[in-house]
Amino acid sequence: MVKLKKQLVSEHVIDERSYGYGNPVNTITIHQTGNTNAGADAQAHANIQTNMNSRQASWHYSVDDKEAIQSFPDNVQCWHATDGGGPGNTTSLSIELCINSDGDYEKTVQNGAELAKELLDKHHLTVNDLRQHHDWYAKNCPAQIRAGKHGIRWNDFLNMVQGKSVQVDTKVKAAFKSKKGNLTVDGKWGNATTTALQEYLDTVVDGIISDQVHNHVTEAFYGDTIDFGDGDEGSLVIKHLQRKIGTKADGLLGPNTIGALQKYLGTVYDKKLSRPSLVVKELQRRLNKGNL
Ligand SMILES: [Zn+2]
Repeated sequence: MVKLKKQLVSEHVIDERSYGYGNPVNTITIHQTGNTNAGADAQAHANIQTNMNSRQASWHYSVDDKEAIQSFPDNVQCWHATDGGGPGNTTSLSIELCINSDGDYEKTVQNGAELAKELLDKHHLTVNDLRQHHDWYAKNCPAQIRAGKHGIRWNDFLNMVQGKSVQVDTKVKAAFKSKKGNLTVDGKWGNATTTALQEYLDTVVDGIISDQVHNHVTEAFYGDTIDFGDGDEGSLVIKHLQRKIGTKADGLLGPNTIGALQKYLGTVYDKKLSRPSLVVKELQRRLNKGNL
């Protein structure tokens, strides 16, 4: 059974970062942190909460490959479900699974399943009472499980919770672990190129570049790989790419990012994305070689 540690936040943090007590715990919601940074483990996430999270967010348990840490009592109404006054925030208990790149992903998911089982039993609930963050709000969370990272899909997670042995599909796992893409080098940036880039940069793998704004660059993408929003948070994979190529990491695609990518890859520099495009061809070639 996963080791469970308590590092409960102060009453002041409960006042400032939750709706307070009164959570009936009708369901348990599973999240994944979205933070692949090395060291972004359960202890780091628990500490963020202890020290008053700068974000208006809170959750009950953080889990990694070593342990589970409780930050809020079960009967507190935490801000984890992005649904404002509920019912996710007000009636559901929350578990965040860490996806830090220096952690063992499968062990973390297994630990999360064991904790979920323990909490379901404690609150006289069943596996049917497990929810995804996505069930409360249209956010792609828990993103890695939803994308079947390492061959572990939601249904597999539910099986783990019930103690059934789960056969991880080794072929799917190998594909996820491989840094080499198998892209058609056609200069067209669509879902396949996004997926390969996400795998290469070890971010959420779903083929979607989220929260972009309309401009001549984002309009030049193919398929439905661009997800338009208000550009508030931008995209994680684009942030990682921007860091790699040495430009402002705001997660938003535009002329400056394309210009930086053209310089980085040594193609014609005009800060424009053609349909199809030379810089995308070079990006695809590099992803296929596993050498970006
Ligand atoms: Zn979530």
